[in-house]
Amino acid sequence: MEKKQFQAESKRLLELMINSIYSQKEVFLRELISNSSDAIDKVYYKTLTDETLNFNKEDYYIQIETNKESRTLKIIDTGIGMTKEELEENLGTIAKSGSHAFKSANEMEEDFDIIGQFGVGFYAAFMVADEVTVKTKALGSDTAYEWHSDGTEGYVIQPTEKDKVGTEVILQIKEDTEENNYTEYLDEYRLKEIIKKYSDFIRYPIKMEVTKNRPKNDESEEFVEYKEEETINSMVPIWRKNRSELTEDDYINFYHEKNYGFDKPLKHIHTSVDGTIRYSAILYIPETMPFDFYSKEYEKGLELYANGVLIMEKSPELIPDYFSFVKGMIDSDDLSLNISREMLQQDRQVQLIAKNITRKIKQELESMLKNDRDKYIKFYETFGTQLKYGIYSDYGMNKETLKDLIMFYSSTEKKLVALNEYVERMPEEQKYIYYAIGESKARIEAMPQAELVSDSGYEILYFTEDVDEFAIRMLEKYKDKEFRSVTSSDLGIDIAEDKEAKKESEENKELFEKMKIYLGDKVKEVKASTRLRTHPVSFSADGEISIEMEKVLQQMPENQGVQAEKVLEINIDHNVYHQLKASFEQNDERTLNLYTDLLYNQALLIEGLPIEDPVAFTNNIWKIVN
Ligand code: ADP
Repeated sequence: MEKKQFQAESKRLLELMINSIYSQKEVFLRELISNSSDAIDKVYYKTLTDETLNFNKEDYYIQIETNKESRTLKIIDTGIGMTKEELEENLGTIAKSGSHAFKSANEMEEDFDIIGQFGVGFYAAFMVADEVTVKTKALGSDTAYEWHSDGTEGYVIQPTEKDKVGTEVILQIKEDTEENNYTEYLDEYRLKEIIKKYSDFIRYPIKMEVTKNRPKNDESEEFVEYKEEETINSMVPIWRKNRSELTEDDYINFYHEKNYGFDKPLKHIHTSVDGTIRYSAILYIPETMPFDFYSKEYEKGLELYANGVLIMEKSPELIPDYFSFVKGMIDSDDLSLNISREMLQQDRQVQLIAKNITRKIKQELESMLKNDRDKYIKFYETFGTQLKYGIYSDYGMNKETLKDLIMFYSSTEKKLVALNEYVERMPEEQKYIYYAIGESKARIEAMPQAELVSDSGYEILYFTEDVDEFAIRMLEKYKDKEFRSVTSSDLGIDIAEDKEAKKESEENKELFEKMKIYLGDKVKEVKASTRLRTHPVSFSADGEISIEMEKVLQQMPENQGVQAEKVLEINIDHNVYHQLKASFEQNDERTLNLYTDLLYNQALLIEGLPIEDPVAFTNNIWKIVN
C-alpha cells in the first residue's frame, strides 16, 4: 500500500498546529460537526432538486460515539460523502487558501497566531488525536474509501466497507500529558457541553448516547444506569431565533462555525424583514482584513438560503463591491430552490433584498460613526479604502450612499475626520474644502504649497492614498462646497501678497515670458507666487489634472502620457528671484537659462516627479557653485 506524503506546506502547517499551545483545542469538534452539517446540506439540497432521489428527514443526522476503552471518538454523518478523488483533494492538502495564509502568516513570523489566520478545519482533529481515520461513501457511489493518517508523515487511502452514504471520522484520542487532559474529549458530559456551546444551531440533530439513571424499582432508593440516545442541539437556526434570546457569543460562534472569518467580527447585524419580501439576515463586519482581500482570489458574496436550505455558498448579487468585506447569510422564503446563478441576477426579489441589505449596512456604519467612533475608526482604517473606491467606481453611481462614511486626516484636528465635520467647522469666508496630496503625513506637512492655506487658518485634509483624489473628483462637492487642492493656482483666498505678486508679474512680464519660452511646453506659465513663504519655487496646477494625479496615472500601464498643466511659481522674496532679475537686466541669457533650468528641476524634485536629465542637472548645480 502506497503511503502518500502531505504537501510540504501542509506538513509544516500541521506540525505548527499540533505543537502550538492553542488554548481552545475543543474547537476541533465544532469544525468536524460543521463539515458534517455542510455535507448534509449538500445532499439535502440535491434531494430537493432532483426528483429521482427521495430521502426522509430522519435520514439526516450527525452521530457522536465514544469509546473510553479504545479511546476513540467518532463523528458520523449522513452527508454527501467523498469519492476517492475528493478524499485525496480535500484531505491530502490543506486548502489552497490555507497555504496562502500560511505564507503570509509566516512572513510575519508569528507562528503562534497562525491558526487564528485561517481557522483549523478538518486538521483540527490532530490537536486532540494522534491518528485519524475517515471512512466515507459518496452519494451515487458503490465503493467506500478509508483515509488514514497519523498527521505527521502522510496518509493512506484504501477501499473499505461502509453501508450508508456519508462520512465517519474516527479520532484516536491522545494520551493525557501534564499540560493537557485529552480524556475529557471522551466524556459525554464534556462533549455535550462543547456541542451546546458551538453547535447548538446546527440544523440537523446531533445525536449521542447519554448515560442516565433511574431508580432500580418503585420502592428502591438505588439507581441504575442506562443509556439513551439524545439530541444535543436545539436545531433552530440562529437566524430564526429572536435577537433577545441570543448572546454576543452565539453570533461569534456562528461566525466561526460558518468560516466567515477567523478573527472576531467587529460588528454583527441581525435583521428580519417581513414585508413585500420576507427574509432574515445575519451579517458581519470583520475586524481584520481577509488576507486575500485585495487579490483576485477574493470573492465577495453572502450565503443564500431558500426556506432554510442552503442554495448558494457565495452569492455576489447580494452585496455591492464597496461592501465586499461584509460576510454572512440571508434566508428567504420567497426564493425558489431551483434558482440558478443566471436567474439570480435577474431576480427582482434578490435585487430588492440586496438593496435593503445595502441600506441596512450603511445605516449601521453611520450610527457606528456617530455613537461608537473608536470602533468606526478601527473599521475605517481596515476597510476605508474600499469605500473610497466605491465612490470613484461605476461612474460615481454610489457616491451619495458613501459620502458620509469616508474620512481623512485633518491638519488641525490631527486625526481622521468626516466631511460633514469639516464643513461644519468652516469659517464663513472659507470658499473651498482644502486638501493636500502626498505619500505620507510628513511629506504633506513639508509641502511648500500648503503654507498659504494653513497660514490663513484653514483646515487641510490629507490625501495619502492614490484613490483619494479620484474619489473626491467624482464627488465634486460636499454640501455645496467644492474641493480644492492646495496646489491649485486659484485657492480663493484674498491676501495682500496676491496684489503684490500680480504687480510683480506684470512689471516683469518679459522676464517671466522669457523663462516660459526657454522651458517650452514643459510648463504652461511662469509667474510670481503668492503662496510661497520660504521655499524658492513650486508648481501649481492649472486645469483638471493635478500633479498628484499625473503621478498616479503615470504608474498605470495604460497611461497615455497624461500630464498636469504646470505653472512654475517663483518666490519673489527669495534671493534667487533677484538673481533672475539681474541676469535678465544684464541680458545674460546663459545665466538666466541656467537658473530657470535649476528651478524647474527643483520643482519637479519637490513634487517627487522624475527629472529628465539628472546628469545635466547636477552639472548645472556645479556651474553655479563655481
Ligand atoms: P473547509 O471545511 O474549510 O473547506 P476542511 O479542511 O474542514 O476545510 O475540509 C476540506 C473539505 O473536505 C471540505 O470542503 C469538504 O469538501 C470535505 N469534507 C470534510 N469533511 C467532510 C464530511 N464530513 N463529509 C463530506 N465532505 C467533507
